[in-house]
Amino acid sequence: MKSRADSLRSIAGQSFDVCVIGGGATGSGCALDSQLRGFRTVQLEAGDYASATSSTSTKMAHGGVRYLEEAIRGFDPKEYAVLRRALHERIHMLRNAPFLTTTKQFITPCFRRIDIPYFEIGLKLYDWIAGRDALAPSRYLSRDETLRLMPTLAADRLVGSVAYTDGQFDDARYNITLVKTFAAAGGESLNYARVVAFEKSPDGKLQAAEVEDQLEHSRFTIRARAFVNATGPYADTVRQMAMPAALPRMRLSKGIHILLPLEVLSSEDALLVPKTEDGRVLFAIPWHGRLLVGTTDDEAKLTDELFVKKEEVAYVLRQLNKYLARPAKASQIVSGTAGLRPLVSSGKSAETKRLARDHEVELDRTSGLISIMGGKWTTHRAMAEDTLDAVQKYLGDAGSRCSTLSHPLLGSDGYAPEYWQSLATRYALTEPTAHHLAEKYGACAPDVMKLTEADSDLARPLLEGLAPVRAEVVFGAREELALTIEDVLARRIGLQLYGWRDAICAAPAVADLLARELGWPDTARQQAIADYVAKIQGLIEKAGI
Ligand SMILES: Cc1cc2nc3c(=O)[nH]c(=O)nc-3n(C[C@H](O)[C@H](O)[C@H](O)COP(=O)(O)OP(=O)(O)OC[C@H]3O[C@@H](n4cnc5c(N)ncnc54)[C@H](O)[C@@H]3O)c2cc1C
Repeated sequence: MKSRADSLRSIAGQSFDVCVIGGGATGSGCALDSQLRGFRTVQLEAGDYASATSSTSTKMAHGGVRYLEEAIRGFDPKEYAVLRRALHERIHMLRNAPFLTTTKQFITPCFRRIDIPYFEIGLKLYDWIAGRDALAPSRYLSRDETLRLMPTLAADRLVGSVAYTDGQFDDARYNITLVKTFAAAGGESLNYARVVAFEKSPDGKLQAAEVEDQLEHSRFTIRARAFVNATGPYADTVRQMAMPAALPRMRLSKGIHILLPLEVLSSEDALLVPKTEDGRVLFAIPWHGRLLVGTTDDEAKLTDELFVKKEEVAYVLRQLNKYLARPAKASQIVSGTAGLRPLVSSGKSAETKRLARDHEVELDRTSGLISIMGGKWTTHRAMAEDTLDAVQKYLGDAGSRCSTLSHPLLGSDGYAPEYWQSLATRYALTEPTAHHLAEKYGACAPDVMKLTEADSDLARPLLEGLAPVRAEVVFGAREELALTIEDVLARRIGLQLYGWRDAICAAPAVADLLARELGWPDTARQQAIADYVAKIQGLIEKAGI
């Protein structure tokens, strides 16, 4: 990608066909689709890419077994269609970025014999709805086989299990890779650029956006023929910026995850807790050397502070521990995430956990703002397709048709499952580092390692004993618009998720490299470290770990 200064030069004061507001999954999907249809497109993100909901998901490319039960019980054809479409999208998400995705077997333990046929029928239905898009057939596992695959389960109560397969993906990296693919297709993108106001033409249509550079605190204007509001939980804020009388449509629901050492489950497979005390499902999923456990579903407001609370930790552990022989403890938690689901409501007051994860494209005929609301990560591509169909209609342009269904993301061409081995040989890497680079950058990993030719110190680990290397920080700053320590550790490299305390230890080395790349004076470097460490220590304290 271009440097920030170059991007600013190509964006500020310029005119575009389409301006996409938002740099999460939805906005990045829309920007890519728009650019590939031939529209001159700009994407603006108020913070860092994926810094809101899109890096706090359960990281499942799925239809959602949870919604399956609701579709059946409620006998609701709409929910069934949402599920079907998500299962179809799951396949394309896996195919378009094989290095960022994988399939995972989920085990549903049964403590009562009667539960076995119940889950077997339900999961067969999940297979059946997926049809040709099914990843692997669900199957019954005996008690012994279940314990062989997941030895830490509560063996005394276990009678057997039902296993099924779903998709898993690296949400933050998928998001960054969507943005890079968009930029490679000729799109213009800027993070830390917030849309703060619109200008309208005499007929009331949006014609320009006023943008505040969050780093320089300066303002500039961009003009566009169409504006797409893809701001997830913030959708109402942007809608009301364009149409002050608009009634709110978003219903937000907070969900948290905790990360534990992988030994808590000692399995390559994931655990599905089929019924929590509030009637939901909960997952414990192996994730890059850790166990990702969640999530919760609590009605929330945009103004709520987003962090993992002690009570939420207690809730998640309580649900998980019912299934384990040896209970996991809060002191074992290494990190966590908290995010807001951007659910769109029809106006009726359903509980957030009952709202369908469907999406809606809204065209405001007065201002011309096109808002895409709701949905989920798995359907980001389909959401973008529906949005850009609406944009095309609004602009009255013939344009080309959507081509994202089979558009490989950057790093996919030339990638194969054994790709890490060639990296290990070519660059004399340890196995964990080769895996890490292959799974974060795919076939672009050599571009990261090329940086070590000019400076061999960049081949050193960022933190002794862990997989990420220093070159990734430089690559993040030069090629992926990483501008802060958190941009690097949370969303480019993933170390913040691996462990909050590891991230604190890595912060000075990241700051040194960023200071060199971005020209920070020493005071700025020190301040960046102090701010980052204080933030992460705050998260540790609030989670009570
Ligand atoms: C706990 C949890 C678990 C989930 N698990 C899954 C899962 O396993 N699988 C799945 O498919 N889905 C899952 N989801 C849903 C999925 O994560 C979301 O649907 C998706 O990430 C939403 O993406 P988005 O781009 O719409 O929103 P966001 O990621 O929130 O992005 C919106 C962006 O808009 C930016 N923005 C806001 N205002 C402005 C402005 N004025 N100018 C410029 N930019 C602005 C924000 O900074 C933000 O980055 C989960 C959600 C949660 C909360």
